[in-house]
Amino acid sequence: MTMKVLSVASEAAGLVKTGGLADVAGALPAALAAQGVELTTFVPGYPAVLAKLGKAKTLHTWDALLGTPARLLAGKLGDHPLLVLDATALFAREGGPYADASGRDWDDNWRRFAAFARAAADIAGGAVKGRSFDLVHAHDWQAGLVPAYLRFAPFPGGRDVPSVITIHNMAFQGYYPADIFPQLGLTPEAWTVDGVEAYGGVGFLKAGMQLADAITTVSPTYAGEIRSAQFGMGLEGVVLARSPRVHGILNGIDTAEWNPANDPHLAAGFTAGKLAARRKNKRAVEQAFGLDRSDGPLFVVISRMTWQKGMDVLAGVLDHLVGIGGRLALLGAGDAAIEQQFLAAAARHPGRIGVRIGYDEPAAHGLQGGGDAILIPSRFEPCGLTQLYGLAYACVPVVSRTGGLADTVIDANPAALAAGVATGIQMNAVSHDALTMAVSRAVDLYAQGPVWKRLQTNAMKADFSWGASGAAYAALYRQLIEEQA
Ligand code: ADP
Repeated sequence: MTMKVLSVASEAAGLVKTGGLADVAGALPAALAAQGVELTTFVPGYPAVLAKLGKAKTLHTWDALLGTPARLLAGKLGDHPLLVLDATALFAREGGPYADASGRDWDDNWRRFAAFARAAADIAGGAVKGRSFDLVHAHDWQAGLVPAYLRFAPFPGGRDVPSVITIHNMAFQGYYPADIFPQLGLTPEAWTVDGVEAYGGVGFLKAGMQLADAITTVSPTYAGEIRSAQFGMGLEGVVLARSPRVHGILNGIDTAEWNPANDPHLAAGFTAGKLAARRKNKRAVEQAFGLDRSDGPLFVVISRMTWQKGMDVLAGVLDHLVGIGGRLALLGAGDAAIEQQFLAAAARHPGRIGVRIGYDEPAAHGLQGGGDAILIPSRFEPCGLTQLYGLAYACVPVVSRTGGLADTVIDANPAALAAGVATGIQMNAVSHDALTMAVSRAVDLYAQGPVWKRLQTNAMKADFSWGASGAAYAALYRQLIEEQA
């Protein structure tokens, strides 16, 4: 029998995207359809989402969803069912999904995403005629209250469905002062450390982790790391307490979106057998980023410009990178101080460092298809997708040994090179010295043409499509549904 799952996510590729969560939420429906699961995606109705939805059928209305009128619209995400929460007071505003145009978080984010979770719990409970679900899959803190509403304030007379929460990044927890609690519409018994209370406030992610029937995170290594204070960021106790219910399931990549053989954003498509075609893409990157034309090593970065991503450390290594013959094309946005460091480096090294501050999906594809190596010196990385795209596009990943980066890249150490299995370069720590050494190793390996080519072909052969991970989610759903029955 087809399992019906409601996937609750604050972004989904194709509609709205700020990072990896969108890629995963966007890819899950197809990944799970292949496993006999019908996944309906539920997202907030930001202006960009409503614009893409066009004319849509209203399935349900709320007079006061956490105090504000709202309606549920039906649409499609590709070939798969989509539900959108249209609530003018909460979502009809310019800026990003979580912050205004200047990057400042919206003051009422707690209300916006509590309402979103309340609506999800209603839908899962059967509020909408003709739409029933066997399980709810909540993503990140924005959907963290879904399990809390299911437990403490379910849709009256509704169906009791199990829930899963996936942590895409423990650094974002949705933590708010205690005085919002009375406005959430939960019963008083939710206000305990076994409920939504966290360190004296309301913890959205914590609530989800405490109350969902299972917790997943997006790589096996990160599932282990979040047991420690360094990576658990205050929630390691919850992870430990719920240990038997914590699973690490690696993200896959959407091979329809990311296929170097027929990617419309590339100047030239290529396969592992036709790597020479990448040269055209390299020329395109050089042109787009104002770099000198050269066959020397071209590093790329596609990243949020943040401390998590180790971008501050990378900024300090750029003179070395250029000094040993490298060039860099960087696409990213984030922390203004870090952006400035890269812009200053580009000014110091014209023709050798090109920086584009901004978010540009086609350019991200172009960089993966034309760069020789992608630099990802993250301090922590729950899964990471850019290294997976790098592997698929023969843009050799140079990564720190953490989270999903550790799980997906095989370091080009002598043993791995001898065995012919290496796919990239890992560094042990995110420090100036470690990154300096990693960049030097990349330049040395690049100079050894056939060795580099072997890294590229190994990388392209590594399979990070959704097959195995889709099966793992489906197995988990099935287990939870059977437990509930
Ligand atoms: P995170 O979700 O922590 O930002 P991931 O590696 O999991 O990191 O996912 C990042 C996603 O966002 C990838 O699809 C990457 O290509 C994309 N991305 C990041 N920065 C940019 C940018 N400036 N322009 C285009 N795409 C970007």
